[in-house]
Amino acid sequence: MTSGPVAGAIDSIEKTAEILSPQPVFADGKPSLAGLGRTEISQKLAEIGVAQRELRMRTGQLWHWIYHRGATSFDVMLNVSKELRSLLAQHFTLDRPEIVSEQISVDGTRKWLIRMPPVSAHDKGAEIETVYIPESDRGTLCISSQVGCTLTCSFCHTGTQRLVRNLTSAEIVAQVMIARDRLGDWPGAARPTDGLVPDAERAVSNVVLMGMGEPLYNFEHVRDAMAVVTDGEGLTLSRRRITLSTSGVVPMIQRAGDEIASMLAISLHAVRDELRNELVPLNKKYPIAELLDACRNYPGVSNARRITFEYVMLDGVNDSLKDARELVRLLNGIPAKINLIPFNPWPGTTYKCSDWGRIEEFSDVVFRAGYASPVRTPRGRDILAACGQLKSETEKLRARARLMLEEGIGAEGVYAVGGGED
Ligand code: SF4
Repeated sequence: MTSGPVAGAIDSIEKTAEILSPQPVFADGKPSLAGLGRTEISQKLAEIGVAQRELRMRTGQLWHWIYHRGATSFDVMLNVSKELRSLLAQHFTLDRPEIVSEQISVDGTRKWLIRMPPVSAHDKGAEIETVYIPESDRGTLCISSQVGCTLTCSFCHTGTQRLVRNLTSAEIVAQVMIARDRLGDWPGAARPTDGLVPDAERAVSNVVLMGMGEPLYNFEHVRDAMAVVTDGEGLTLSRRRITLSTSGVVPMIQRAGDEIASMLAISLHAVRDELRNELVPLNKKYPIAELLDACRNYPGVSNARRITFEYVMLDGVNDSLKDARELVRLLNGIPAKINLIPFNPWPGTTYKCSDWGRIEEFSDVVFRAGYASPVRTPRGRDILAACGQLKSETEKLRARARLMLEEGIGAEGVYAVGGGED
């Protein structure tokens, strides 16, 4: 049993998760089975009278249709009896949360604004963003774990949006399903003709928990969602193709390794506590030395399963060559990759991106010390879909839609390819 401040931190995290994750219900009052885990699906079947002895088999059938085939209606489940299909349709749906808008960047990156079903009569439905980054041979889906974020990292746009609530595990899974729906990524489905979709067997080949929110502040739901996403009879994504990115919730890192077993990324961004306290205020609670100790002990870390350290390049703030050398020193002994991220500006920020010459010099120092140090190509900047830029902007989009309608332009033009932000 853990004791002292660590136990206190875990308690408060769990309490937050409990309070902030109500169960959404779709508009017609029926809950959706899409996104649920096996145990939850079995429970739902038992509630509508499916016999105990059939539960396992029926759950397996539904699982195959929902997560292997991507079914959106019970009608297509031809190996399920007509009576049961009709009973299922009376009580449940396979609806996904609503896509409010889709923006496609000039570089093919897509950003979806997704509205979750309301959780009460007065709730209009929480909104989150999910981003898809295609490359020629793979596609990475960046998913959100919370609506907003509590952590106020000073370089991050999401941090300016207050936390509304944690997402449920079903809502986290639903982001993967929505992407696969939209990208024609189910067996036999047609790929879209707009935007870029990789010429690979799977359009969504990798998932990163790097969208809105701190995943380790919503631990149970993230863990349960990843169990669904990695299930070998459904969405079948390998745990090695899932990366959980944390700003450094030290007490939860060991559990993440034991119970989620994904790849780990750390939003480091500074090599001195004084500066990291400012960039990532959680550092005041869990300073760099403690964070790096937790990384050294991350279950399964090895040269084949390196930890990624993310480092946003901020002009004149954290980009000196002295910082680069200190970074190398700090990471000594940790199987690591360093991901240099050119800062993606957003409205209202005072930070600027380091110039390319400086980014290259910084990268050289790190590379010469033996670390892979790719510079992440900024993707989707024109639609505010790049790292640290996410923030639900429905009001802004609505205002622009009104304006365009007033000017006689179709509302669909609001979300046009490469539309960009104000
Ligand atoms: S970087 Fe991550 S943890 Fe920090 S404010 Fe942004 S979303 Fe939250």
